[in-house]
Amino acid sequence: MGIDRTTLARRQARFVAACKHCGVKATHQRIQVFRELARSDDHPDAETIYRRVRRRVPTISLDTVYRTLRLLESRGIIARIGSLGGPARFDANEEPHHHFVCTECGLMYDFCQPNYDHVSLPPAVAEIGTVKSVCVEVRGLCRKCEKNRVPQRAPG
Ligand SMILES: [Zn+2]
Ligand SMILES: [Zn+2]
Repeated sequence: MGIDRTTLARRQARFVAACKHCGVKATHQRIQVFRELARSDDHPDAETIYRRVRRRVPTISLDTVYRTLRLLESRGIIARIGSLGGPARFDANEEPHHHFVCTECGLMYDFCQPNYDHVSLPPAVAEIGTVKSVCVEVRGLCRKCEKNRVPQRAPG
């Protein structure tokens, strides 16, 4: 987990402000769900968030986690991101950023490249709809999976 305290504090402050702005009650369980997402850098899915939150809040239910994520997503407080198959993953990183998706383990890593935030799009895109943000998805093998693959590739 590579999220530093300053970033986490900023994300939490933004969460509280966003809840106030949207009229969403920042209940203890919602705060815990958001906090778990905000301190992760691996874009966890709902079940992973549930397992992690349960360590601190044993009374929380998977249903509550799902409902909280849906609520926060519908208010634009967090983002739901597609993955290559598998369940939806969530993202509390509010800075413009892009993703490296590992096609083996499905983990998504954030990276920044300001040039990509304002990439020039072909006119065909405007016909489809209005663009609100750009997120470039790079696909490949993460270092960990690359390492694990070596023995399997050896002949014999
Ligand atoms: Zn991987
Ligand atoms: Zn992200």
